[in-house]
Amino acid sequence: MRESCRICGNDKNNRTHSAREMMFGTRKPFQYLECGNCGTVQLIDIPDLAEHYPDEYYSFSVGDNDLGSGWKRRFAAKQIGTYLATGSGFLGKLFAGWRPNLAGQFPAWLREPLLDLSMRSRILDVGCGNGELLNRLSAFGFTDLTGADAFIERDLIYPNNVRVLRAGLEEIEPTFDLIMLHHSFEHFPDPLGSLLQIRRVLADDGTCLIRIPVASYAWETYGVNWFQLDPPRHLFLFTERAFDRLANEAGFEIVKTMYDSTSAQFIVSEQYAADISMHDAKAFKGNAAESIFTRKQLDEWDTLTVQLNREGRGDQACFYLKKK
Ligand SMILES: [Zn+2]
Repeated sequence: MRESCRICGNDKNNRTHSAREMMFGTRKPFQYLECGNCGTVQLIDIPDLAEHYPDEYYSFSVGDNDLGSGWKRRFAAKQIGTYLATGSGFLGKLFAGWRPNLAGQFPAWLREPLLDLSMRSRILDVGCGNGELLNRLSAFGFTDLTGADAFIERDLIYPNNVRVLRAGLEEIEPTFDLIMLHHSFEHFPDPLGSLLQIRRVLADDGTCLIRIPVASYAWETYGVNWFQLDPPRHLFLFTERAFDRLANEAGFEIVKTMYDSTSAQFIVSEQYAADISMHDAKAFKGNAAESIFTRKQLDEWDTLTVQLNREGRGDQACFYLKKK
């Protein structure tokens, strides 16, 4: 049977690829379809996903973000957060200059005027795991923070009022001013249905921020060894044009796109090509001298990463969506 693209319906010139699970290194093969029309790379048979999210997938800890200890630090974080989110606040501007390391922990994608944030903006993080990012945003002064993740064990309510619901999008009640999906959308089996659910719970003047891998230069260069394919957890890898089409179909307009890829697109993909899994003892750990790469090679990849992001060809991006 000829497989059709589940995004645009095309059944001509589609290609299939066999890719291996390499995050945990089981090396189990999974089949992906590459659409000959819109370019979307998609997992053909979606397996029982729970078995591919072992406990260690969510093993990050919450609260060790170095923002919360000491009242001076807590005070500075709130001032800095207010200044970086809203652009106002003289004290926050001063603190941001004095404490660049603290300011550097404020998420870059929220320093965006089109979000029109206030510290009371109703924010939803979809696919948030245990809510690490929401807790960081709380430390920076945001007060209305909700998370949703279908794969956590139970609801989590933190002392700072951050609440994380064990829920899928269809169970969430409206309304939110900002909905964020940080590398969760590529895990969803029904992308159009998910966008329609987001539209349902987003305020009419709200913004949805979606960070996803994008099939571009790294996919063309590394093919099935491109690490962001991450079989079988990543179900859809969109091209920019395919994602734009899908967003429009769901009643959204992409108002801004910011590429934020890193040199992992080269380092980890090269390792997969050399049969080194993500957690292998030989995998790169930040030190050129102890790695299979030369310092010169790593520097070249850093330069190329900056260039690709500038040209809109990096392997991941942040899309800002508004209702049409
Ligand atoms: Zn397609």
